[in-house]
Amino acid sequence: MKIFCIGRNYAEHAEELGNEVPEEPVIFMKPKSALLQAHSPFYYPEFTNELHYECEFVLRISKNGKYIQPKHAPNYYNAYSIGIDFTARDIQNRLKEKGLPWERAKAFDNSAVVGPFTEVKPGEDLKKLEFSLKKNGEQVQKAKVGDMIFQIDNLVSHLSNYFSLNIGDLLFTGTPAGVGECVVGDELEGYLGDQKIFEVEIK
Ligand code: MG
Repeated sequence: MKIFCIGRNYAEHAEELGNEVPEEPVIFMKPKSALLQAHSPFYYPEFTNELHYECEFVLRISKNGKYIQPKHAPNYYNAYSIGIDFTARDIQNRLKEKGLPWERAKAFDNSAVVGPFTEVKPGEDLKKLEFSLKKNGEQVQKAKVGDMIFQIDNLVSHLSNYFSLNIGDLLFTGTPAGVGECVVGDELEGYLGDQKIFEVEIK
């Protein structure tokens, strides 16, 4: 099982971190060990002093494939959820300055939170779905899936030109504006529309 992640997929978020809006999707990956097991506590990692939440729409791959055309992409996923791409921003900034890979900042243990999945209904337009994140009861991020720079079907197609997609792989589709720091004791709650999908307490 692989966890694909997309960076800078919302224009306002790219701006808030001082990044250019990309001409093609920014791709990175997290290993299976990055997945926070359901109902497990999240402990603040000792190697960072600036942990950021990034709430994201997450897609689950349901069919093996390679070189998938965008128009056929919907045949390759069957469920969605939302999650958090936890990021050690201080480490990421240092790595970015040197042009080095991001794994230490992005792919550490338990850095990928995912809520329970919802099956895609036939004909459902995922672009209309809204998701949001509350920190300590206050909304900090909100976006529509359709606001992405690179839309889901294009992402699935693009990824499949480089990597075989396999059943059970996950795709974190990038974070909207409003990312920020979290500290021990913070409560993060992710919502799809009005429905709470996950909650995480930073321990
Ligand atoms: Mg992210």
